[in-house]
Parts: sequence; C-alpha cells; structure tokens
Amino acid sequence: MRPKTLIVLASFCLLSAAHPLWGQEPEAPLRYQLDLREPATHLVRVTMQIPGWTRGGEIQFPAWNNLYQIRDFVRDVQDLTAACDGKPASLSRVDLETWSYSNPCSELTLHYEVYANQPGPFSAELDLHHAFLNFALLLFYLPKDRARPIRVRLLLPQGWKLATLLDAGPEPGEFQAVNYDRLADSPAEAGQFSEYDYKQRGASYRVIVDADPEDYSAPKLLKALKRITATETALMREVPFKRYTFIFDFPHSGVAGGMEHADGTAIYIPADRTRSSLAAVEAVAAHEFFHLWNVKRIRPQALEPIDYVHGNDTRDLWFSEGVTSTYGELTLLRSELISRREFFDHLASEIQQLRSRPARFYQSVVAAGRDAWLEKYPDYFRPERSISYYNKGELLGDLLDLGIRHATGNRESLDDLMRRLNRDFAEKGRFFTESDLRVIVHRLAPGFPAEEFFRNDVDGTKPLDFAGYLAYAGLELRTNQVQAPDLGFHSLMSFGGRVRVESVDPASASARAGLQPGDVLIKMNGTYLTVLPDEQLAGMKPGDEVVFSVERNGRDYEVTFPLGAKSAVRYEVDEMKQMSSAQHSILRGWLEGKTESAAGAAN
Ligand SMILES: [Zn+2]
Repeated sequence: MRPKTLIVLASFCLLSAAHPLWGQEPEAPLRYQLDLREPATHLVRVTMQIPGWTRGGEIQFPAWNNLYQIRDFVRDVQDLTAACDGKPASLSRVDLETWSYSNPCSELTLHYEVYANQPGPFSAELDLHHAFLNFALLLFYLPKDRARPIRVRLLLPQGWKLATLLDAGPEPGEFQAVNYDRLADSPAEAGQFSEYDYKQRGASYRVIVDADPEDYSAPKLLKALKRITATETALMREVPFKRYTFIFDFPHSGVAGGMEHADGTAIYIPADRTRSSLAAVEAVAAHEFFHLWNVKRIRPQALEPIDYVHGNDTRDLWFSEGVTSTYGELTLLRSELISRREFFDHLASEIQQLRSRPARFYQSVVAAGRDAWLEKYPDYFRPERSISYYNKGELLGDLLDLGIRHATGNRESLDDLMRRLNRDFAEKGRFFTESDLRVIVHRLAPGFPAEEFFRNDVDGTKPLDFAGYLAYAGLELRTNQVQAPDLGFHSLMSFGGRVRVESVDPASASARAGLQPGDVLIKMNGTYLTVLPDEQLAGMKPGDEVVFSVERNGRDYEVTFPLGAKSAVRYEVDEMKQMSSAQHSILRGWLEGKTESAAGAAN
C-alpha cells in the first residue's frame, strides 16, 4: 500500500534478518493461528511461528491501535510460552510490551491466550454470539522486522462463518497480509452474520451485517450504501480497490462507532437507532468510506511509520478527521439522503457546538488533534478544556471549500484539492506534510488568503468568520435568543466510553429527581446514549419529560424529570433573499459538487 516505506523496510530486513546458518529465507512468512473454539471463555488461543529467529531477537505487543489512546493491549495477554525448534525456551521481558530470546532457532514458536471481551469496532471480542477481531489487539509483531509477510489461520466454532478484510492465502483456509501494518488494518468478523454484495464501477462491495433481521431493512441499507459509494467514487474519479467490505454490527447495547480501514470499515450502531431509520448508519458509512482516501491513502507523514508503542504525533487530524466529516455530510446531501434544509441545520448545529466551548479561545484545532491522546480521560472533554477537531475541522473544510470557490470564480473547489492530494501523494505512494497542503491550496487558488487561514483558523484561535464565508454562497447565519431546554446537570464521556454525570445544579428538577454526580447514564428516553444527552435535545422544549436509565454502584435506577429552561442563542443557516449570480453559482457548485471548469461533466 505504501511502496516507498515497504522498500526501505524490506531492504533493512534483508540486512538484519538473514541468517544463512539456519537455512531460512529472510522473507519466510510469520504464521499465526487463532483458535476461537471456546468462545464462552472469551479466550483467543494464539500460536505464532517465527521462522529464522536470530540471536537476541524481540517480540512486541501493540499499546495502541484504531483509537488514539494508549490502551496497553498486553494487559489481556496471558500464559505466554515459547519453544525454540520444539524445545522449551525462556523469554526475557525487556519492558512492558517487549520480550527477547537470546538464542537463534530455525523456528521460534509462541503460545499464548488473549482475553477478548471488549465490544466495538476499535476492540476485540469473542463470545458465544460472535467474534469481532482487530489483529493488533491479539498478535505480537517483530519490532525490527514489521515488513515480514504474514499468514493467518482461524479455527472457528462449529457453524460459524468468517468475513475478513484479509486476502486469501496460497493454502486452503489460510489468509495473508503483506506485512503487519496491513494485518492490523484488516479486521475480521466471525459468527452467523448476513451477507450481501453489489458491483459498481468494476469493484465488488461486500456488506456483512451482524444483527437481528428485525432491526434493519436490508434493501434500504444497500440502496443507501450504493448511493454513498457512487457519489464518493465519482467525486474522487477513481475506485482504488477491487473489493471493499462494510462490516456492520447493530448490537442490543450502547456500543457505537465506526473505524476506517484501507479497503473496508467496521461500524457499530445500537439496534434501537437502526429500527426506524438508517440515518445514523448512513452518516457513519459516508464518513468511513471517504476515509479510504482521506487518511488511509491521502496520508499525513506524521502517522507513518506507525509507532505501536508510543503513538504518533497527530497534528493533522483537523484535516484527516474533520474534512472527512465535511465530506460525510456533503455526500449525504449529494446522494439525496438528506435535504438541503437538513444540511443547513446540521451546519448551524456544528457552528453552535464550536461556539459553546470556551476552549476555542485557547486551543487551536491542530492542538486539539495532538491532544487526541488524552481522549481516554473523560474530564479532557470539559468544554473549558478542549474543542473537537471533528467539529472545527468539519467547519474548516466547509470554509476552505467556499473560500477556494470564491477566490477562483467557482472554477476550483475543495473537491479539486482532494483530487490533487490523491494524484500527487496517494497515487505516488507518498505521504503529505502540512506544508505540502499549504502549497497545494495556494497553487489551486492563489487569491485565497491561505497564509491567514492556516495561521488564524488552523494554527490559531481567532473566531472563524462564518458570516463572511457563508456570504460567498449567498447564505446567512442568523442568531435568535431562545428559551432552550436545560437538563440541569453536566456530563462527560471519553471517546467510545460511557456518559458520566459530573455535576448537578442543586436547584434543578434533575437534582430533585435524585440524579447525582458519578451516575452513569445508559439510556435516555429508552435509547442508548452514544453521545452526550445535551446533543439529544433537538426537537425538545422546556417542560418536556425525560427518562434516564442510570447505573449507580452496580445498581440500575430510572430517573424521570421535566426539562428546565435557559436562555440560549440558536443558530440558523439560510439562503439570502437576494443573491448575485456569483453567489448562486457557488451555492449550487458547493451543494452539488460542481465547478464552472467542470460544468457539464459528471461531478
Ligand atoms: Zn473518522
């Protein structure tokens, strides 16, 4: 996938790993066998075979993967033993994640178990119902030889099927990856899922759904996915894969999230949010599918090579995540999965969200990306501590698009920027830096004040000029003073974690109803909470009753109270009554994904 790095690593491997004494080819694949046949124990029993073990070699276990959080996956590894050419070998612990073995062997074999009992697209889970596996949470790598090719075999419980992003290997029942990074980027689902597929523009799409058939409409899901993949491949003017796999899980619990991979994605949405509408699924799918370009192929230099132990500096997340959200929303609109009104309302709510966080005055969006590593701590999410790089990054994507269109008479756009990054970096196997991005923006739209944009809006904390940018497209941002519903308490959640009440206003109805700091909120009005309850108040008004399912000291409670009222500013985005033809042209181009230079051509 990244030819340049592979060549560097491969030549390093030839120098370091060859060991003529033992007659092994340096590129002999590492073999892993994962035995899932006792799912009730949650234990994945792993055998790893390492041909050509050299004196003093090391094995290492990742501390992070998927989420920008050091999660120390080694915590779930138990009963590690080794054999050197069949004889017991005692490994030495080098540090928390690393072991070494001093003697050479023609084959070193490891046996160990991993406790896999965390649901969700970022984790590894084995239970009686199914398995969802991210291999970096399960498998050791060779820290000095991560470019080694890999073969994987899975032993499944009776009656289970397997879907994996890995390619089939040369032997029956075997899968392969060119190296460990690719293995880590290729999750697997095992169990009794439903499977659908479709072909589009020469590629095949597999749709794996682990869900109760009552909980979703398969025809509606496929129809939406076809529109999303058609819109985004048309936008990028390419289909850079032969096969793409969507893995969906609609659990009867509160687990939610989506994780992108180069040729697929894993998406969990609670079933109580998929039964009546697939809007949540569509929004996540549109975001994750765009990631196959933005972050997987159009990849910041800072994310490579992956440091599985210490993490990587993530100063580009406003672009890699935020602008992916920009395209998630534009894709829903351009695929006619949402209306113009819904698009404008979403934009207004994103502006509202940014303006509700005092940290916007002192934390730049670049700093928020670098601080992503703190997202495992719920208190990091206090509005006074942090902003969201998803939120501000998505808005910056919109502003950049409008700014480029305005500066070029709607002849260039953010779409052209993404295509140019794809052509100049992804297709050449190069990673981009922040200065590459600045140069491309400047070349694309010399009249756009790129330097100020990056200094003030990306690296700085100057308030964003929404009114100015929106006016380029004949839109205005209106504010109304309203009586908004008030929960009467503050809550926080870590990324992918649970909602915890931090403080309760003693004069509020929630306090009178018995809500306490430290309570964990599981459901709101019967629906699993996957975002803060404050973000679930749309369409509600003061006086409306809310019901929370609460967990406190291991016991479950229900707390019911009427919403209070507070004075708040509500934002609205609307079209101006009078628009110039330039404004009309930018608005239409932006919403439909067109420019003047490509007028008539499909997207
Ligand atoms: Zn994302």
